[in-house]
Amino acid sequence: MQERESNSKKRIMVSACLLGIKCRYDGKSKRNKDVIEYCKDALIIPFCPEQLGGLSTPRIKATITERDSVINFAGEDVTENFHRGAMETLLIVSITKPDEIILKEGSPSCGLTETNVNWERKKGSGITTTLLKRNTNIPLKSEILLQS
Ligand code: SF4
Repeated sequence: MQERESNSKKRIMVSACLLGIKCRYDGKSKRNKDVIEYCKDALIIPFCPEQLGGLSTPRIKATITERDSVINFAGEDVTENFHRGAMETLLIVSITKPDEIILKEGSPSCGLTETNVNWERKKGSGITTTLLKRNTNIPLKSEILLQS
């Protein structure tokens, strides 16, 4: 019975920090009550590409460079971690087959229309979002558009 109920629910993958999970680089969340309200009747699948990529929490803030690599504030190249997290997210998508994915704007991983390039918020997609756009047809939604 329980299984049938969860099967009929809409499945939504959500950048975990929007749900109040303290997975951000600073060890905090970006809880978004409108996103939580939007998802209240859905089966929620939280994900955090930077954690999935093997980075610790808290961690040193990172940005995308003009050469599409990712460096952190200490000057370390964390591109491999960002790509690994993106690939792991894609694997979760292929396993769970969500109906939609809600993404945290401005992030070098999850940004949908804005990301972080050279330490500035700029138009563009994060590393994970870019991979999702290229490899899935699942609707991607910005947390900003869900805000009332
Ligand atoms: S990688 Fe995505 S889910 Fe993780 S903290 Fe950054 S914006 Fe949130």
